[in-house]
Amino acid sequence: MTWQHPFPKNTITSRFGDNSPPRTSPHRGTDFAAGAKELIPAVTDGVVTKIFYSSCLGWVCEFKTDEHGLYVGHSHLYCNKHDSIDCDGSDHQDGSTCMSQLKVGHRVAQGDWVGRVGDSGTCSRGAHLHITISKKSDPRYAKTFDIEKFIDQKIKKQEKAKQIKLTPLEKLSRAGVKIGTIWTWAKSKLD
Ligand SMILES: [Zn+2]
Ligand SMILES: [Zn+2]
Repeated sequence: MTWQHPFPKNTITSRFGDNSPPRTSPHRGTDFAAGAKELIPAVTDGVVTKIFYSSCLGWVCEFKTDEHGLYVGHSHLYCNKHDSIDCDGSDHQDGSTCMSQLKVGHRVAQGDWVGRVGDSGTCSRGAHLHITISKKSDPRYAKTFDIEKFIDQKIKKQEKAKQIKLTPLEKLSRAGVKIGTIWTWAKSKLD
């Protein structure tokens, strides 16, 4: 089970807990300033649990992660039905969603698309992804924690696990030791 950030970290415009104006309360998610309509990859494997419209968060797609059973929410999404980044949620009686092929109950693997970046909902100021993570379902009500820090730790562990799998020679080569130097040293031992 591996994890990734949805977009490069240098596109983060507002971190978890950010309280700078015009905010009136600490930020409950992490904002990535990806371009409008940009496809959003799942940060890990899971199952889609919710797709709904909220007046504040706009179109939301949430999935439950296989590892730890956490809920990852993506808010202010683009609306597929109206081809609009700021859909107001009306005219969706037919059950249309933010993404044409994605339905509640679908499995997503890490990197699969879970929506497109939009500007829907009254709490959005410009196209961006507002991503959240929580132990309970629903980014409107659940207590959230810092997904950036959480995924940073996951990536660190993944890197460590990769290092362990390397052969001693690969480790030396990663450390910048030239194979030629090792060979010369090995030969000197044989002589
Ligand atoms: Zn719509
Ligand atoms: Zn946000």
